[in-house]
Amino acid sequence: MSIVPRIAALNEEMTAWRRDIHAHPELGFEERRTADLVAVRLAEFGIEVHRGIGRTGVVGVLRAGSSSRSVGLRADMDALPIQEANRFAHRSENDGRMHACGHDGHTTMLLGAAKYLAETRSFDGTVHFIFQPAEEGIGGAKAMVEDGLFKRFHCDAVFGMHNRPGMPLGKFAVRSGAMMAGGAFFDIDIEGRGAHGARPEAGVDSVLVAAHVTAALQSIVSRNVRPVDTAVVSVTQIHGGNAYNVIPQNVRLSGTARAFSNEVMDLIGRNIARVAAGVASGFGATAKTDFRPIFAPLVNDPQEADFAAGICAEIVGAEGVRRDPALIMASEDFSFMLNEVPGCYINIGNGDGEGACEVHNPSYDFNDAALPYGASFFARLVEKRLAK
Ligand SMILES: [Zn+2]
Ligand SMILES: [Zn+2]
Repeated sequence: MSIVPRIAALNEEMTAWRRDIHAHPELGFEERRTADLVAVRLAEFGIEVHRGIGRTGVVGVLRAGSSSRSVGLRADMDALPIQEANRFAHRSENDGRMHACGHDGHTTMLLGAAKYLAETRSFDGTVHFIFQPAEEGIGGAKAMVEDGLFKRFHCDAVFGMHNRPGMPLGKFAVRSGAMMAGGAFFDIDIEGRGAHGARPEAGVDSVLVAAHVTAALQSIVSRNVRPVDTAVVSVTQIHGGNAYNVIPQNVRLSGTARAFSNEVMDLIGRNIARVAAGVASGFGATAKTDFRPIFAPLVNDPQEADFAAGICAEIVGAEGVRRDPALIMASEDFSFMLNEVPGCYINIGNGDGEGACEVHNPSYDFNDAALPYGASFFARLVEKRLAK
């Protein structure tokens, strides 16, 4: 019940990798230096390397023994378009780019586990180290899946991890079933009939229609979604008109929806289109809805969640593992991998003192003291899952 001793010994090396990646952040699908660094390290460890999967994604393949069992471990590599406010030596050298979500730490923890597993090979089967591009809302996981990730690299199960600021160091959180919301974006194009602002009777006022549609959409969560299901519909943009005395012909409403199952997300999409079209037609206007799911809801397989929680407990003790953390309204595109292969996504504490700065904040930094915990999780998981 502790950190893997050999991984504890890699701490200084892992910290150096992490700070190097932190100093050189790259946006989604532009992770060339990061992917190079990952590929070079994996090859050094003696791991077979495949490049260019989902554009800048990298997969490492490590086999031991003769079993056909396999497991996938995934880390994300991309940074955010944020100007870093930190002044420490490893701060971002790329203007307007920053590792503000800790993906530098995730990549490093998986590299640390890869180094250890390649040295020790104390398992029987195949490990796939999946280094994913573009997690931050631009479809990296989907790109890898569509590029044949799981057809080329069969995985019986797949596991991922994200740091959580505010949760103490050396703690893990695992949730069975739905854990993070799915997210969709929508646009509603309302068309009335343009007219002079002083002669409304000559037109159909698209601004008034947009106001009624916006209000009516708030009935979807309260009247169409079951009260026991959690969901959000937010209209976040209204665009229309550019003069004081013109009733505009067109107005566009845009927004986002969140839900914890594909069924609820589909229901919201259908209802947005119906309500918008119905309200608009009542005023003599039309409304066309474009509803686009961006993230699937993240749903952990109950059996794999149990398994992952057991591994966490081996490292930090049962009291260090939260089994019923609250649902998270944010989204995560590892959900697209979990749609293909059963598995589990867990949270690792980034600290409640120094590591408590929220992700996506210009002062955030991944806590290097968490590296041995996460790398030990991946390493122990493989040794147990593919036990000799
Ligand atoms: Zn993020
Ligand atoms: Zn993230």
